[in-house]
Amino acid sequence: MHRVPLIMVVTSDLAGQVRGKGFPASERDERLLKGVGYTFTNHMINCWGQIPATPWGPLGDLVLMPDAATAVEVDFGDGSMAERFMLGDLFRMDGAPWDCCLRHYLRSALRELESETGLQLIAAFEHEFHDGGLEKREGDSYSLDKVRRGGDFPGAVLHALQAAGAEPETFLPEFGRSQFEFTVKPAPAMVAADRAIIAREMVRAAARRLGRDVSFSPQVDPAGPGNGVHIHMSFQDREGRPVSHDPTQPSNLSGVMGSFVAGILKRLPAMVAVTAPSAASYQRLKPHSWSSAYNNLGWRDREAAIRICPGPETPGADVASAFNVEFRAGDAAASPWLQLGILVRAGLEGIREGLATPQPVSSDPDAMSDSERRRYGVERLPVSLGEALDRLERASDAGTLLPGEFLEAYIMHKRGELEAVSGLTPEEICRRYGDVY
Ligand code: GLU
Ligand code: MG
Repeated sequence: MHRVPLIMVVTSDLAGQVRGKGFPASERDERLLKGVGYTFTNHMINCWGQIPATPWGPLGDLVLMPDAATAVEVDFGDGSMAERFMLGDLFRMDGAPWDCCLRHYLRSALRELESETGLQLIAAFEHEFHDGGLEKREGDSYSLDKVRRGGDFPGAVLHALQAAGAEPETFLPEFGRSQFEFTVKPAPAMVAADRAIIAREMVRAAARRLGRDVSFSPQVDPAGPGNGVHIHMSFQDREGRPVSHDPTQPSNLSGVMGSFVAGILKRLPAMVAVTAPSAASYQRLKPHSWSSAYNNLGWRDREAAIRICPGPETPGADVASAFNVEFRAGDAAASPWLQLGILVRAGLEGIREGLATPQPVSSDPDAMSDSERRRYGVERLPVSLGEALDRLERASDAGTLLPGEFLEAYIMHKRGELEAVSGLTPEEICRRYGDVY
């Protein structure tokens, strides 16, 4: 069969979906200069392809400009068309970046952080997903046999991640039935978020070619473990020196990292509407499920919203370079650009306010009395997307976190999505989201 290579330019949008337009590869140079046309309302397409409401209607035009630095060209060696795409930025027709472009949103947050504090954020995303095509076997958590039953899939994923420059670090047969996880190397925050988008597409691309059915949805089955997106974060100064670690502090967090973490945790009950933005997300964010249910900082605690991660403890080890914190209250229904962007904005607010490092919670916050929780300054995260959206709308700094026309569009998008699942059972909600993430 004769085929012309097609290059897609894509954005990751409010629904956390990767969408865009394509052109023949022969037009690459021209398209790098002029981009492809896009419209405002495309951002309001929800994860099921519906547009329940839009602030923009059919009006207006945007340009989606490909960034050649993100170009992916991955041949799977099976005779299928290679995957070819580039991530893009959304601009208004006069060349100004569009407020609601999520890549711009993250980039501008990182620029503010850098210019005010001199800090560069280093990040790494971990991704969990379910492989619906995997032959099921009880008790196969972390087992070699589960990887073996994966057949060519794990190796094809690693090939695709490497070929796409996503720098895979580990691939593992996670705890849940048919659940896998992969991690990639840390990188400057913008690269890390780009990579998160590319990496999930590589998993889907490998799965498609092998006839498998994968889902990154936060909860594919109400009874099983959820799929988290965990984001590791640390800071470097302008000279590239690690500045998140301070061994003289009780929790080893430097003052600036402590304020950043405090800024996130303080806003988390509202912000979780953005980091865990689906109705299914709240089936995952419950106590005792190794995700997070409170806005707490935890020392090596896998149920904390932010976990202080272990580092090397051998004599002479470079502890400061390895030191990082892990945000665990997020999932793949959110665009990585948006998810990391709002963490940066909230953390930067914490630095501006000069917040003190929160006291790490050393016991189960769910087992504490209300007064104990108040002493630690922790509260239960919203138990539904509806409640999280209410909190976001009521937050006095919601307009700082999601500036310009962004907040209104986001709330409208998510309220429409909620409407579409109202009255469904938890199983049906898992199925609906499982099909599209
Ligand atoms: N599956 C868990 C989650 O939903 C995370 C398990 C782990 O610690 O890796 O976040
Ligand atoms: Mg995991």
